[in-house]
Amino acid sequence: MTSRARPDGGDRCPGVLRPFVAGDGALVRLRVPGGLIGVDVLADLVGIAAEYGAPVLQLTSRGNLQLRALPDPLTEELIERIEATGLLPSASHERVRNILAAPLAVSLRPLVEAVDAAITSDPALSELPGRFLFAVSDESGSVLTEGWDLAYQALEDHEGVLLAGGFAAQVHPADAVAELIRRAHLFLDHRAGDDVWNVRDLPTDSPVFEGMLPYGARLPGPLEPGPAGADLVVGVPLGMLRPAHLDALGELADEVVLTPWKSFVVPGAAADPGRLQDAGLVTTSTSPWSRITACVGAPYCARTQTHTLDLATAATAQMTGAGPRIHVVGCERRCGEPSSDHLTLVAPTDVHQVVAASGDHR
Ligand code: SF4
Repeated sequence: MTSRARPDGGDRCPGVLRPFVAGDGALVRLRVPGGLIGVDVLADLVGIAAEYGAPVLQLTSRGNLQLRALPDPLTEELIERIEATGLLPSASHERVRNILAAPLAVSLRPLVEAVDAAITSDPALSELPGRFLFAVSDESGSVLTEGWDLAYQALEDHEGVLLAGGFAAQVHPADAVAELIRRAHLFLDHRAGDDVWNVRDLPTDSPVFEGMLPYGARLPGPLEPGPAGADLVVGVPLGMLRPAHLDALGELADEVVLTPWKSFVVPGAAADPGRLQDAGLVTTSTSPWSRITACVGAPYCARTQTHTLDLATAATAQMTGAGPRIHVVGCERRCGEPSSDHLTLVAPTDVHQVVAASGDHR
């Protein structure tokens, strides 16, 4: 389900205090700045999902989490259960704490916390659109391929660049937070109206880009499931965390880092993929699950009759891990399309169509 414009020009990006009502009930999105989250918190959320709605916890393409098929309106008890996870520290700013961070870069955590604190302590920034995305990265450039609005890349030797649209300016790390916040204010002050949600929608002479120069860089793609140094990148089939996944994860780690690629990083677990694999998670890039995604489709979304999740699931039984990435959607809105190279299939009629598009099959 995608968020859409309201007649008043606002956006419908959901939060807990402002859910989106989808075909299957209320949908809430929980922001996880930088992606770092306790396994116990994930387990609590999966428990809440099983008790009140669809028994899955969805990973979003911006590294956040979603609960769906909840009662509409949400009950006080349910809101209190979600608040008790600690993921709702600011009622006024809950929908604007969208901060992506390079998932393997532990050194960025203080920066993420500082950006989050600066956003939530700034009353004017509660007016940012729910679609507005901050990103921070290190020399790797990881996550800079995503659709951020303002980004900061920390480089070696206490250097760094601030990025906005296709422009960049050198900014010392000590000034990074202030400069991100200053340009977020410029965005709010100079956008043409409430229906301008992203920096990329601004004219190139916008004050948001003042003092910046055109910029382009070769960037790395998404992290693939599998070992990454001492850490393990773990894919979540169709981005849906289930109770069995959390049971396995709980035996292995206290915290993980969510990525924008329907996966998470388990620190220090590179040598230990077996239990997670047994639970149905993806620990190798050669799994067919590592190259198929889908929008939520029918029966959850009223815009289609296509059961996208069922088709994608059935297709993986006949696919190998080699071939193009496939994204199955129920209509031309193409929700959740990956930022990396992929082939989108709109409303396929049967599983054979998905398998044929995948380019190879068992
Ligand atoms: S059916 Fe269309 S509107 Fe609904 S989730 Fe899929 S792409 Fe989005």
